[in-house]
Amino acid sequence: MVNHMLMITADFENIASLQPQGGCDDPNFSYFFKIKCGRCGEVSQKETCVTLNDTVSLHQGKGTSHLIQKCKFCGRDGTVTMIPGKGKPLTQELSEGGKYAPLMLFDFRGYEPEGFVFSGAWNAESEYAHDFLFAMLFFPFVVDFEPGAAYETLRPVCISQTFKTCLYGRKLYIQGGLIAGTKYEDIDLSGDDFNDYDEKGECPVMISNLRSKFEVVR
Ligand SMILES: [Zn+2]
Repeated sequence: MVNHMLMITADFENIASLQPQGGCDDPNFSYFFKIKCGRCGEVSQKETCVTLNDTVSLHQGKGTSHLIQKCKFCGRDGTVTMIPGKGKPLTQELSEGGKYAPLMLFDFRGYEPEGFVFSGAWNAESEYAHDFLFAMLFFPFVVDFEPGAAYETLRPVCISQTFKTCLYGRKLYIQGGLIAGTKYEDIDLSGDDFNDYDEKGECPVMISNLRSKFEVVR
């Protein structure tokens, strides 16, 4: 079976991560893209839209899908089904490396996807190195940089772990979101970029040069 993974990337300035408003499996986030008929090659004129929360029943009780559409040109039926649980936020590390983050997996039957459009609401978090430096100065031996840990729940870790943290701390901080930067909600990326100023970090933040592709997953 062939599936398509929607992959995205962008250029970040002082941004740690980007994802749909409610996370990659946001039930109400709508994905817009064109579809190309697998039989006649006709590409839909308008973007089609699928949302996790919005399912349709397949004929003959074969479960549910997120879109059933007949090709306007040759009349062939096709379906688009979303497969949640595979997406990850686009992090600064991926962005800097020119790599893409997987966003959503799709099962296309009778169609192929073309040209994802960045619409809907997104959220991003700025990086916040000041807090990180503060933590390293004042709690050099009690800072646990376990991904996802909260500022309040820092717990003692061994010195070697702290040393590793010193070496790789910045990266771990970005991945783990230990010390939160400023959160930006309801970002509109339909204008191709996002600009703001991070009061806490005292720096401009920017998301630009948005790119996407559908990668075949076998
Ligand atoms: Zn067709």
